[in-house]
Amino acid sequence: MREFKIAEPRTADEAAALLAETTGPVALIAGGTDLLDELKSGVAKADLLVDLRGVAGLTGLTPEKGGLRIGAMTRVVDLAENAGVAKDYPSLREAALSLATPQLRNVGTVGGNLCQRPRCWYYRDPDVVCRKKGGFNCYAFQGRNKYHAICGGRACHIVFPSDLAPALISLGATATIGTVKGDRTVPLEAFYALPDVDVTRETVLGKGEFLKSVWVPAPAPGQKSVYVKLKERGTWDFALVSAAVTGVVKDGTLASLTIVMGGIAPVPWREKKAEDVLQGKPVTEALIRRAADRMLWDPTPLRENLYKADLVFAALKRAVMAITA
Ligand SMILES: Cc1cc2nc3c(=O)[nH]c(=O)nc-3n(C[C@H](O)[C@H](O)[C@H](O)COP(=O)(O)OP(=O)(O)OC[C@H]3O[C@@H](n4cnc5c(N)ncnc54)[C@H](O)[C@@H]3O)c2cc1C
Repeated sequence: MREFKIAEPRTADEAAALLAETTGPVALIAGGTDLLDELKSGVAKADLLVDLRGVAGLTGLTPEKGGLRIGAMTRVVDLAENAGVAKDYPSLREAALSLATPQLRNVGTVGGNLCQRPRCWYYRDPDVVCRKKGGFNCYAFQGRNKYHAICGGRACHIVFPSDLAPALISLGATATIGTVKGDRTVPLEAFYALPDVDVTRETVLGKGEFLKSVWVPAPAPGQKSVYVKLKERGTWDFALVSAAVTGVVKDGTLASLTIVMGGIAPVPWREKKAEDVLQGKPVTEALIRRAADRMLWDPTPLRENLYKADLVFAALKRAVMAITA
């Protein structure tokens, strides 16, 4: 294993300055449950780790501006066990409880979950130099691709693995990014970028930037939210396909709704055309199938992963039926 130094900033400004000013390879470390694996295997390289654990103001769940601020260093377990989250954002609780194992939820943080690197086996193989690592090929394209993207792939067919991201985006969350020039805020949906933008990263974070917190608006009157995760195994596993649906039901129809799918694209996947299909109409199985078809209106399936199209329909059906029940 390569040697590295650890910096322990006390403030967000110090952390941003360290990230911006360090010239060699530098990485942020939160709980370390993803990063340490990458460092040990040699997939990630860092001469300096900037440890966020001592940085003030990054931990906890705080009511703010009629919503809830969730610090990036909040542990996943604290999100999953929060009574306010269970009451106002059941999809977020479900997503938090569904991810990894109790041990990982005890250590892993919300920021680390939202910024974790992909699980693609070509990317995680230290001997493979794929596009994401500066090479010229996406080996999943012609290789083994059962778990890869069926939408939005093109340059690189990873899927973004986070369970929290689809749930938070469907709830209308925004991300606050710390920079050397002060904070900036973007919708969490716009925090993620497709490989066409920069194939080497999954978020819009630039040099010297990191995620400080996410903010979720208070639920609208009558709002319900559901997270459905379809996995290959009955024990801990990443989603093959997941559906986060937030909606308001009036007179038996969905007066408003947001659908975000996980496991099918390099970013949490939102397709407003699918939401339009369901909005304001009595929900039927045929209508949900049309919405699932709109979700996949421009698919790029690979040899082994077309089965995910059926799972999109199944996950969406379960989620929409639960919201309208
Ligand atoms: C066996 C196993 C099963 C798992 N199953 C699931 C699952 O089912 N669903 C799921 O969603 N996840 C799953 N995960 C991923 C797990 O949730 C993440 O490893 C964890 O949430 C990362 O949090 P962390 O604090 O340990 O991050 P770290 O490992 O410290 O960091 C992860 C990455 O994010 C970056 N980072 C961390 N914090 C910030 C920040 N504030 N701003 C910018 N960048 C940051 C780091 O530089 C690093 O690249 C699994 C992981 C393992 C090992």
